[in-house]
Amino acid sequence: MKDRKKITAVVLAGGHGRRMQSDIPKQYLLLHGKPILYYSLMAFEQSKVDEIVLVTGEEEREYCRKEIVERFGFQKVRAVVAGGKERYHSVYAGLKSCLGCDYVMIHDGVRPFLTEEMIERSIEAVERDRACAVGMPVKDTIKICDENGYVEQTPKREQVWMIQTPQSFEYCLIEQAYRMVIESGRAVTDDAMAVEIFLKEKVRLVEGSYANIKITTPEDLIIAEQMMKNN
Ligand code: C5P
Repeated sequence: MKDRKKITAVVLAGGHGRRMQSDIPKQYLLLHGKPILYYSLMAFEQSKVDEIVLVTGEEEREYCRKEIVERFGFQKVRAVVAGGKERYHSVYAGLKSCLGCDYVMIHDGVRPFLTEEMIERSIEAVERDRACAVGMPVKDTIKICDENGYVEQTPKREQVWMIQTPQSFEYCLIEQAYRMVIESGRAVTDDAMAVEIFLKEKVRLVEGSYANIKITTPEDLIIAEQMMKNN
């Protein structure tokens, strides 16, 4: 019998979300009556994932433990840890708190439309390919521009994807990649990038959903509210 691999989800909620123009970090704002963060935690809680490590701001750990983990009864949240200045610091803090897992799924806590299908597809892909990221082909034509705002290149649209989370990896692979990120001081804006740049490892793209939006600005919250109502 194939032995069952342990999967940990690292859910990121350590950002300040200045673009949301709110005193409350965006992951705690209410969406359809519940904190935005609730939805992705619930998706992992009800999935094949074994454990969740929740990364928050240093001062919000207690709030998160009481008002989110205890209040909604999340059983799989094993640790609530403090993140860092940039997203990649928070990811590294989360990775260091994973205990003996084989695979890790890194997810932005501000993407509440995570589904069971996305989690399943990611697990299948990471078992086969070691590293994968959820995303969707772009609908618009994308231009690469120079620093003066002139077009430099127009990549073929079929080959351009917008990348979402979760991004899933063999634990030792991503831990090594992030260790190199931290040691080098080179910023990465997503997790796949750490593996691409530092380990030259191929990252498989997995179908996400156009609904899997990241709530960044007040407009996103209005759109998300409408999407919840239509569900
Ligand atoms: O700011 P951005 O939209 O890139 O944030 C994506 C996710 O990363 C959010 O869930 C946010 O809470 C998290 N984050 C973090 N620590 C930071 C910055 C962002 O956990 N220092």
